[in-house]
Amino acid sequence: MIIVKKIGVLTSGGDSPGMNAAVRAVVRKAIYHNIEVYGVYGGYSGLMSGNIKKLDLGSVGDIIHRGGTILQSARSEEFKTKEGQQKGIDEMNKHGLEGLVVIGGDGSFRGAKALTEQGFPCVGVPGTIDNDIPGTQYTIGFDTALNTVIDAIDKIRDTATSHERTFIIEVMGRDAGDIALCAGLAGGAETILIPEAGYNMDEIAERLKKGHERGKKHSIIVVAEGVCSGVEFAKQIKDSTNFDTRVSVLGHMQRGGSPTAFDRVLASRLGAYAVELILEGKGGRAVGIQNNKLVDHDIIEILDREHTLDLDLYKLSKELSI
Ligand code: ADP
Repeated sequence: MIIVKKIGVLTSGGDSPGMNAAVRAVVRKAIYHNIEVYGVYGGYSGLMSGNIKKLDLGSVGDIIHRGGTILQSARSEEFKTKEGQQKGIDEMNKHGLEGLVVIGGDGSFRGAKALTEQGFPCVGVPGTIDNDIPGTQYTIGFDTALNTVIDAIDKIRDTATSHERTFIIEVMGRDAGDIALCAGLAGGAETILIPEAGYNMDEIAERLKKGHERGKKHSIIVVAEGVCSGVEFAKQIKDSTNFDTRVSVLGHMQRGGSPTAFDRVLASRLGAYAVELILEGKGGRAVGIQNNKLVDHDIIEILDREHTLDLDLYKLSKELSI
């Protein structure tokens, strides 16, 4: 174990429920090992402007159950430049930091990779509702977002049944279909559109018509934002079947709310693990979870890999929605 005295922690990119639990774990685990922790406020933007303050045990009290991030998040184009990254490194050096834990999504990991390549060791903790980070089965916030979507689908189903309507529900996920697939499966959607699988409009129209003929009271279609917008898909259905549909775009509500127990446990484990790696002198890593075991990968190499979706689940969702 090497002697590390001071580390920093920041949250960046799109916020996700459970980021606070991860910040808490980083701070408490570090203090437990006599390391000082500095919070960087406002993501990479705050890093470049030196918005860095010492955190103590109490500063992360009463946050484990809160959505969002007490460290605030931001997006910064300047940080994508070498000069911007150097500014950040200069600020960290000024504060005497020896490592940085970055909690965020794909873009934030690219920032952490850039800092590592420039000689400042970072450890990436996957925090995004999209579940699109390679090298981990789950990202912090995905489970909470999923449950929010399922809750919405259940509610929409009540009104869909009463009015015999077809509903299209557009969900987040950027280029990944994880939220759409799992929420669609758990919410009993008739049709799920994910970027990883493509779709056949004739087949979907045929299903809808058949369902209608046999007296089906409603249909729920879940569309991942990475495929197309819900409104665009409603137009396609109208053109193919002449059916009217209602569209619900769940939007940013998917990012908020109190994290589920799963996300709190995951965030606590991953945050603490990031500190353990720094203690072992292992910077430049990306932590994750595989088959309920903590894992870590080279942050430079992992970003070249692709996140993969479990297509067996997709097959199952089709079989169960006949
Ligand atoms: P997320 O982390 O949720 O994917 P973004 O893609 O917006 O969110 O990324 C967050 C921030 O990470 C960006 O605003 C930028 O400052 C930084 N970032 C993204 N890509 C890079 C890159 N290639 N190099 C350095 N920094 C990056």
